[in-house]
Amino acid sequence: MRPSRSMRIAAGLALAGAAVVGVAQAPAPDAERTLRAGDTELRVSVIGVDDARRRRQLQDWLAEVAHAQLTAFGRYPLHSARVRIEQVDREEARGDESPVPWGQTLRRGDAAVLLFVRDDASLVELRADWTAIHELSHLFHPYLGRDGRWLSEGLASYYQNVLRARAGLLSPERAWELLEAGFGRGRRESSGAPLIELSREHEGTMRVYWAGAAFWLQADVALRRDHASSLDAVLSQYSACCLRGTGEVAPAEFLSELDRLSGTTVFSANYARFVQSREFPSVDGVYRDLGITRRGDALVFGDEGRAAALRRAITAPFTATAGEGMKSAAGTPR
Ligand SMILES: [Zn+2]
Repeated sequence: MRPSRSMRIAAGLALAGAAVVGVAQAPAPDAERTLRAGDTELRVSVIGVDDARRRRQLQDWLAEVAHAQLTAFGRYPLHSARVRIEQVDREEARGDESPVPWGQTLRRGDAAVLLFVRDDASLVELRADWTAIHELSHLFHPYLGRDGRWLSEGLASYYQNVLRARAGLLSPERAWELLEAGFGRGRRESSGAPLIELSREHEGTMRVYWAGAAFWLQADVALRRDHASSLDAVLSQYSACCLRGTGEVAPAEFLSELDRLSGTTVFSANYARFVQSREFPSVDGVYRDLGITRRGDALVFGDEGRAAALRRAITAPFTATAGEGMKSAAGTPR
């Protein structure tokens, strides 16, 4: 879910309720598009938008975001999932200035991403926003319950920056700066409560999201540094063998499955330390591994050696040869 003020969430839930109940109406043929990659698909619907040009614009925008999602491993994580785009006006957005005031992943019957887009949001604004790729990134993991909220929100928060950089929607430097800014917001949460408690009680949102992102960053770096693998590769294996769009998986069970698939203990090794952590985990070690140094409020990026190569590999543009299915990723009208 997009982290937000409680009022915004309340507004969103009300809107989602309306969306789920829905009013029966035949959609315009161009309001539906199926994006395919290999044997996986995303079925994208634009709901209640009368202007054909705007419908096409929203579909093209989502196709670009879905392309960013494919930079993980060239397929969508689920065999089939739905994306539903609706528009809200300024009043419904309750003063929220963001182009996508609200998004959520639902797992009822099948997996669906709901996105509420401001009706006056331009394409430039939509392309610069992170909400859609954040929600699509939730499709990489199973529902992990309240105890696993820090892991699920962390994965989406990590990937929302990394995948956009790979797709050219952000520069690599900007992606690292946005991660660092998130870590900063997480550090400022100073309740001293264990991360698992914040996760369970829906509190300390910024520490929950960004300590989670730090967890996945550490795992990704350890896999690349020591095991000639990557988070993408392990999640690809998980997607092929085990991922379901609905149902709940216990966080420890999910991580031990990722350990098994990677032949490592990278995931479970940090789990106990993170869930019990009462302050934001240090990312100094991982920054060293990536050739990133803090100088005041800015980040400085090392240019040479293994650290720079490791860092660049994480945000490297994805090519068709790196994963099957990419060539068939272009949208085909249904
Ligand atoms: Zn989320």
